[in-house]
Amino acid sequence: MKRILTAIAATMTIAGTAYAADDEMKPVMTELKDGIYQFYMAHYSSLVVITDEGVLVVDPNHEFRAEAMRAEIAKLTDQPVVKVLYSHDHFDHSRGGQVFKVEGAEFIAHEGCVELMSRDLEGRVVVPDVTYSDTHRIELGNKVVEMRHFGSSDGQCQSVIHMPEDKVLMGVDWHLPRYLVSDGRLNTYDYIGALNTLRRVSAELDYDTVISGHLPASSPELLAEELAFVEALYAAVWGGLQNGKTVEELKQTVKLPEFSAWLFYEENLPAHVERMAYAIWHGH
Ligand SMILES: [Zn+2]
Repeated sequence: MKRILTAIAATMTIAGTAYAADDEMKPVMTELKDGIYQFYMAHYSSLVVITDEGVLVVDPNHEFRAEAMRAEIAKLTDQPVVKVLYSHDHFDHSRGGQVFKVEGAEFIAHEGCVELMSRDLEGRVVVPDVTYSDTHRIELGNKVVEMRHFGSSDGQCQSVIHMPEDKVLMGVDWHLPRYLVSDGRLNTYDYIGALNTLRRVSAELDYDTVISGHLPASSPELLAEELAFVEALYAAVWGGLQNGKTVEELKQTVKLPEFSAWLFYEENLPAHVERMAYAIWHGH
């Protein structure tokens, strides 16, 4: 989901903070909690955790961003980056980690990412050193970071990033509220998987601070709003299919007025109806 938020940046206020499009290329390091930062630049977020045993980063998101993030980290600590976590395989998030590989960082992803990441014909994805299947717990300095695989959502090897003691949650691509992406970006979007992930995150994880892989700021309230949208879409489409409606009919008739203020609601809701219908048919 590249460069999709220019419209948001230009027109919308998210979580109480206004962002101008001009600022999007500026690297911004925001302290969320003691030693825990969100690095935001060019419509992408990374999580940065600084400890006295080294630094942990989630997602490089391109070489230029990784290098800018490394420079911002150096302003905060002399510690090396020792862990790089991948949220998922998609190249716009996973490319660009070489700057951290050079200094000796260990790269960690869900096991399903390895083959997918090896498909990068440009060779810009640092392949994972460590993989896991269900849950992976990292203790670094005084911090705990957990990667959890709740099944596929956007792509097949998503890791939900959670800091259980600090109550910080990071959602990448399965958490992009108040914005309906266009049909091409839904190609690999497993809507049933995304619904399962949102349900499990809401039910099983404890958090009071949320960041999104593409938003300058998010919140538990925005995550709850996104779950409500996906639940409403699922109910409308599944109900329509059970009543014998075709996908074409549903694309024309399903409306979710509660969410009509979301960006690109009018333009893109039919594509989301269609993707949800096929996800129900196929199971993903
Ligand atoms: Zn994305």
